[in-house]
Amino acid sequence: MTRTVLSSQEMLAKLVGFDTTSVKSNLELIHWVQNYLEEYGVKSTLIHDETKNKANLHAIVGPEDKPGVVLSGHTDVVPTEGQEWESDPYTLREHDGLLYARGTCDMKGFIAVALSKLPKMVEKPLAVPVHFALSYDEELGCLGAHSLADHVAQMPVKPKLCVVGEPTLMKPITGHKGICDFDCTVHGRESHSSLAPYAVNAVEYGAELVAHIKSIARRMQSEGPFNKQFDPPFTTLHVGVMKGGTALNIVPQHCEFSFEIRNIPEVSADDLVEEIRQYAFKALEPRMKDVDPKTGFTFKPAARVQAFDIANDNPMVDLVLSLSGANGTEKVSFATEAGIFQHAGIPTVVCGPGSIAQAHKPNEFVASEQLLKCENFMDRLLEKLRTAG
Ligand SMILES: [Zn+2]
Repeated sequence: MTRTVLSSQEMLAKLVGFDTTSVKSNLELIHWVQNYLEEYGVKSTLIHDETKNKANLHAIVGPEDKPGVVLSGHTDVVPTEGQEWESDPYTLREHDGLLYARGTCDMKGFIAVALSKLPKMVEKPLAVPVHFALSYDEELGCLGAHSLADHVAQMPVKPKLCVVGEPTLMKPITGHKGICDFDCTVHGRESHSSLAPYAVNAVEYGAELVAHIKSIARRMQSEGPFNKQFDPPFTTLHVGVMKGGTALNIVPQHCEFSFEIRNIPEVSADDLVEEIRQYAFKALEPRMKDVDPKTGFTFKPAARVQAFDIANDNPMVDLVLSLSGANGTEKVSFATEAGIFQHAGIPTVVCGPGSIAQAHKPNEFVASEQLLKCENFMDRLLEKLRTAG
């Protein structure tokens, strides 16, 4: 079988050519990667979502009975709709040392570098294996990574390190906030507005709960807990969407809103959700149910990413720091799949090419100098994995 050999830039051009906007299927890209791995005799496992339109990919290069290093990236990208691009977002364009296309920075750059090293990985045997872990639907709230991280963590031999290659300018990131999203529905009872006291106004009860969420947000801001490594240095809560009511002369029977908690590692998002639910059930619902027992609140969990924090004295942090050539670690406020891998019991560090400042924007780019830094990172890693036990 002929074996595909691509430079990291050629690989990036290949990967950005697949339009893997989160709403679409990522299978074309995943099947291409699966086939590429196959050319080198590397078997991979696909973990599909319920629709079978999307899949995670996991593959191990090297001995499976040794704790390996996971190279992890999400294959999906954010939409380009409504953005002014100077060239086709799905065709790699190079200009002045910058490589433009959707996903170059977030985060096909890292995946491209990792995959382009496959020939090197199989050329001389590795003492410690490399795992490729590619996910779907990260941009929709890290939906695919849960089943992927569970699958990887449940291998007979658990990996000793996971590197999530989100854009950090190749600086190792050792912590980020968590995300906990919920959809809340308020079930009221409709009536003519002139009879409002005999009805249950879903919008008003929803607003009372939203005000309570705001009061918790204010408490977090004024009383903490605080962690100065994050900006803002406390847990934030916010309501991003709220809908309800049809006309001013009708007491609305339906209202829905979505809230989000971005917690620092010191704060349990579950505890805050419980506090919100208890307020709804104990302070608000009794008054609603006095009018009509069928009214009340329901809560539905949406996206979830655990807060991520790895101790700076963990030897795996030292390893990534030495591979990256950076002079220190940082914590960031944006969430990644690192929280999910860490939660599954795999020590994790975020480190990848490109800057988060270019992510999700029109004319997204990664500097070729960043790809080169990432290549050096991979070369040093492979050198280590050939000799290390
Ligand atoms: Zn990303």
